[in-house]
Amino acid sequence: MTTKYVYYFGDGKADGSADMRNLLGGKGANLHEMTRLGLPVPAGFTISTDVCTYFYGHGKQYPPELRDQGVEALQKIEQSVGAKFGDSTNPLLLSCRSGARDSMPGMMDTVLNIGLNDTTVQALAKQSGNERFALDSYRRLLLMFGEVVMGLKGHKDEPFEHILEEAKKKQGVKLDNELSVDSLKTIITKYKEAIKKYTGKEFPSNPHDQIWQAIGAVFGSWMNDRACVYRRQYHIPDEWGTACNVMAMVFGNLGDDCATGVALTRDGALGTPGICGDYLINAQGEDVVNGSRPTKRIEDTLGKDMPNAFKELVEVGKKLEKHYRNMQDIEFTIQRNKLYMLQTRNAKRTGFAAVRVATDLVAEGLISPDEAISAKYIPAGDLSQLLQPLFDAQGKKKAVQEGKLLTKGIPAGPGAATGKIVCTPQRAEAIKQANPNVSLILVRKETTPEDLRGMKAALGILTAVGGVSSHAALVSRQMGKVCIVGAGELDIDNEAGTVTVKGKTLKEGDDISVDGFTGEVFAGATTTKPSEVVQVLITKELAAERSDTYRRYKQVMDWAEKHRKLGVRTNADLPDQAAEAVAFGAEGIGLCRTEHMFFDHIAEMREMIMAETTPEREKALAKMLPFQRDDFAGLFRAMGARPVTIRLLDPPLHEFLPQNEAGRKEMAKVLGTTAEAVARRVEELHEANPMLGHRGCRLGIVYPEITAMQARAIFEAAVQVKKEGIDVHPEVMIPLVGFAKELENQEKIVRTVAKKVFAETGVTVNYLVGTMIELPRACVVADQIAQTAEFFSFGTNDLTQTTLGVSRDDYGPFIAPYTDPKKADILAHDPFATIDQEGVGGLMKTAVEKGRGTRKDLKIGICGEHGGDPDSVKFCHKIGLNYVSCSPFRVPVARLAAAQAVLEGKK
Ligand code: PEP
Ligand code: MG
Repeated sequence: MTTKYVYYFGDGKADGSADMRNLLGGKGANLHEMTRLGLPVPAGFTISTDVCTYFYGHGKQYPPELRDQGVEALQKIEQSVGAKFGDSTNPLLLSCRSGARDSMPGMMDTVLNIGLNDTTVQALAKQSGNERFALDSYRRLLLMFGEVVMGLKGHKDEPFEHILEEAKKKQGVKLDNELSVDSLKTIITKYKEAIKKYTGKEFPSNPHDQIWQAIGAVFGSWMNDRACVYRRQYHIPDEWGTACNVMAMVFGNLGDDCATGVALTRDGALGTPGICGDYLINAQGEDVVNGSRPTKRIEDTLGKDMPNAFKELVEVGKKLEKHYRNMQDIEFTIQRNKLYMLQTRNAKRTGFAAVRVATDLVAEGLISPDEAISAKYIPAGDLSQLLQPLFDAQGKKKAVQEGKLLTKGIPAGPGAATGKIVCTPQRAEAIKQANPNVSLILVRKETTPEDLRGMKAALGILTAVGGVSSHAALVSRQMGKVCIVGAGELDIDNEAGTVTVKGKTLKEGDDISVDGFTGEVFAGATTTKPSEVVQVLITKELAAERSDTYRRYKQVMDWAEKHRKLGVRTNADLPDQAAEAVAFGAEGIGLCRTEHMFFDHIAEMREMIMAETTPEREKALAKMLPFQRDDFAGLFRAMGARPVTIRLLDPPLHEFLPQNEAGRKEMAKVLGTTAEAVARRVEELHEANPMLGHRGCRLGIVYPEITAMQARAIFEAAVQVKKEGIDVHPEVMIPLVGFAKELENQEKIVRTVAKKVFAETGVTVNYLVGTMIELPRACVVADQIAQTAEFFSFGTNDLTQTTLGVSRDDYGPFIAPYTDPKKADILAHDPFATIDQEGVGGLMKTAVEKGRGTRKDLKIGICGEHGGDPDSVKFCHKIGLNYVSCSPFRVPVARLAAAQAVLEGKK
């Protein structure tokens, strides 16, 4: 039996359906589904993703059956439309578009108006009675074919751009749709010449050559740079491949009763209900997204321009939302007042919109609460957008008074961002690589899929042209970037790196602020205030009932809580951090890094380090004891009855000493010693490889008095707070253990001190002693370590560092090529952000099994940075951890991810 590679749809019947997206791609499957639903979809066929797989597996050849199946499907389109492909009197024109399983907006290629040549263009002119339209379509074909199929896209000479601009200038018009018949004829001739000049080949006039070459280009585009980068970012496997959709053309550029547009069934930035989007009268699809003309807003004017088509569009939108039970992103064309659907897909949305839409869909009865909290509706990481700061009204008022309000554009990605202007994506990427902490605002006339890497590097995106469905808006929404589009007053010189507006010129590197809620653009930095959720939960300046955002956030969290099995704790060293985390739902402290407290009492710490004998060291430590005790008491009070894990000193001692001459002199003065003595001690403590040096439990083993002081501070604080009526639960954690004996050594000190403090005070506190698991050896001998440890906490920062042999502080220069699918392509993700499940994760599994083999009810958590990363949280759930611990602002993300882990496990 021959394999079916081609799936036809048309006239209410379709070979495929929505559940065939693996084979037909998302766009294809939905075209089939819409056809079945009786929606107005032009006839067409989908070439399956299997062909893409075959194509790459066979040296870019097609399966032998494909051509006949294609020809047969093409005949069906001809019958449906009543026109013939390549015919010299009644020609059928086709579009050819990519369509992967998960939509990858703008990443791959499209060719429209296939089938035109010098003969058919005349037939089209005659048939439509509109020569301008026919020539305009032909010029577009030459442009897209030249760029996409013949490889001129991104050519440094930009030949097509120049020819078009020259023609407009000559004719004295600004916009493409104002070009005359004569201008279009000239452009067509010149485009053909440019194709010949730059590719050495003629534009193929045979329509059949055109369509097959276009199909080849679509499959080829699966491996283009931007598609590869996009897939990596959104975890789309390379093996999936794309499908290819060939469809009869309908025309939005036939005249003023025609239009083309992109609609969202709800607002993609904030999620407010009601159809919205961009359209253009007398235009073709690409015009709307590429910013070549200022678009019109569907919600504002389409109802007046084309009342019937608008009404139908609204109804189709509702029908599709009901059918797919999700907000849709629709592409349509109106040809002579008749609506045609070209695509529908689940819309990309910001974190704000995701929460709003999910809660609304539940209220509308379209989805259940369990579905609402799934990653499909609310990706856990996107929740953090609701916690980001906003510009405060006072700060903005001041900026306006100071004349810093530069302009206003269309808000497309909510939030507040201040950063340094950068005008090219290449520079954005380079600056970010050199300094990962820099905040950048990418300012461009428009963005294209080529800009993806630069957009990733930026905190905010600002464009001069384009509407809410422009590339910049779409991608920003998905990436959660603050975004303003269509700020038409901006005059941007990318090469010079300048942005001029109302006579003011800003340069690259200058600060600029963008308000993604209002579209306002300010020169300089503008002060921010906390998000509404933070205002309600933490600063308490906003009443819960006055914030719709908070109400919905809370609803989502409440739904999530019903499922979550993993505990969620926080990494916090200070009482106010701890209190914030509790407000976000933290159930305990998973990691208090005590060294942060030492930095606050650096003089005493340095005295301790300079001590030459144990009694001297103990004297210095005694000075530190009250500070530590107060710090711990503060934490215990903030956390109430929740468990508080306190890790004993971890970093090497030289981190506390001054690095330069002046600092050493200053320290000598404070301690009443000589600069030489300080220099000598610095020299003694110097390590070639401090991360693998005298740190972690090795400190407490060599200097047991440090452990003893810390233990005393912990237990004295616990006793004190318990006396105040709080049921404290300290958990003492020993860092960087690799040998069971190391833990035994430290545990003995801790327990001895505890006993003493309880005897001295007459108060006993329940406590645990456990260890961090952050060395491969600890994982392998976890059964031995669990003999002593009452809990494990994975320190995946160090565990990643030591398992991969990659320094957590020095991996910057090679991580980019390592994770770049077009460069070395060795790692799918930054292993310090998302757990390397096979390697580090494999060791974690071993540790869990071995640890619980010894101690059945061993409590196990994670406190490395991965504890707030949704994928890693899900992995921790899968391997049976009891809790994750992360920074306070990631607590809500972890809670949602933990609930999603349960629901995903049930599927
Ligand atoms: C870890 O190594 O994952 C950890 C939490 O400890 P630190 O980052 O302090 O080394
Ligand atoms: Mg560590």
